[in-house]
Amino acid sequence: MGRPIDREKRTVEAMIRLYCADTHGTSDALCRQCDALLAYAHDRLDRCAFSDDKPACAKCPVHCYRTSMREEILKVMRYAGPRMISKHPVLAARHLLDARKAPGPKVEEIAKRVKKKETE
Ligand code: SF4
Ligand SMILES: [Zn+2]
Repeated sequence: MGRPIDREKRTVEAMIRLYCADTHGTSDALCRQCDALLAYAHDRLDRCAFSDDKPACAKCPVHCYRTSMREEILKVMRYAGPRMISKHPVLAARHLLDARKAPGPKVEEIAKRVKKKETE
């Protein structure tokens, strides 16, 4: 199923599409707000400092989303997450596996630095 970043791009797109169709009544195209959120999420993934070593965004020590977009994506995840298994079982299963993967060395190092800063 390709690189983790490409899988995550497909997963986030499927989640936003599901959320937009059900809560904003769209069918083919996304509404303007969801379209902007998808472009933002893909851009963040393209610039992800961890590349293929990346953790699940929800568990990331960096959280590179700006606050307003983070709130938006959390809304989408809360809605679409539980519905993904029935709508997109393969993507959902793969996403769960990726999320359970042990963090790579780069992620651990940054997580330690972030924790240290929080306790200073
Ligand atoms: S939240 Fe973390 S894992 Fe997700 S794209 Fe940003 S830096 Fe990468
Ligand atoms: Zn929408």
